[in-house]
Amino acid sequence: MRYAVLSDIHANLEALTAVMDVLANSRIDRYLCLGDVVGYGADPSACVERLQRADALMVGGNHDLACIGKLQLGWFNDAAKTALVWTRDQLSFTDLDALRRWPLKTADGPFTLVHGTLRHPERFEYLVDVAQAVETMQICPTLMCLLGHTHLACVIEYDRAQRRLMRILTTAGELSEVAFQDEPEARRYIVNPGSVGQPRDGDPRAGYAIIDTDLTRISVRRVPYDIERAQRKIRDAGLPAFLADRLAAGR
Ligand code: ZN
Repeated sequence: MRYAVLSDIHANLEALTAVMDVLANSRIDRYLCLGDVVGYGADPSACVERLQRADALMVGGNHDLACIGKLQLGWFNDAAKTALVWTRDQLSFTDLDALRRWPLKTADGPFTLVHGTLRHPERFEYLVDVAQAVETMQICPTLMCLLGHTHLACVIEYDRAQRRLMRILTTAGELSEVAFQDEPEARRYIVNPGSVGQPRDGDPRAGYAIIDTDLTRISVRRVPYDIERAQRKIRDAGLPAFLADRLAAGR
C-alpha cells in the first residue's frame, strides 16, 4: 500500500492543490491527514471539501477544534484568533459536520494518527524534544505514529529493546527518503510530514510524505506552489498581513 500523509494545510488551497496534483500521479491507495486543515489561510471550506473528496482518514488539529467550539480561542495568538473568527463564518454546515466527526487520534493498519502528541492529544503539545518522542513511541500501539503540529518534517526511529532513539532524519531539500523496518516488536517510528500550507523551516514549498509499506520506505517531499496567489487571497479577505507575508519566507 502507498499512503499519502498530509498535515497542517491551514486553508491554503494553492498548496493543497499542488500536493494533490503530484499525488494523483503517485499511485496513492490511501490519504491520511493529521489535522489543522483550516485556520490562517483564505480557503478553509475548499480545503475541507478537497480532503473529503479524497476520502482521507482524518484527525482534528487545534485550529479545526476551535472552529467547532471544542477549544477556547484564548489558546491562540492574536493573528490566529482573528483568522479563526473569520474562518468560522466561511465554513458551511456540511464542513462543520465533517470537522465534528474528526477524532483526536485514530489508527489505520500500521499507523496511529494524532496532531500533537500521543500522551495528551487534547493538549496539542508540540513534539520538540527527545523525552516526548520516546514517550509517544512507548505508548504507540502501532509501528508508526504520524503527527504534525510543529510544521517541521522529521522521521525518528526507536529501538524498543534498547529503549533508545536510533536515527533522526530531519529533512530539507527536494526529496528525503529513508527505509523502515516492518517489525512492530522491535521498532517504532514517528513521522512528521511537515506542513502543506504553512512550512516553518525556511523552505516555503508545500511539504508532505509518502509511505510505501510494500517497499518499506518513507519519503518526505516538497513541491512548489503559487504562493503569490495564496498571499493575495489572504490580503483580499482582510486577514492579518503577517499571515500572507510568512508564506514567502517559509516561517
Ligand atoms: Zn498547524
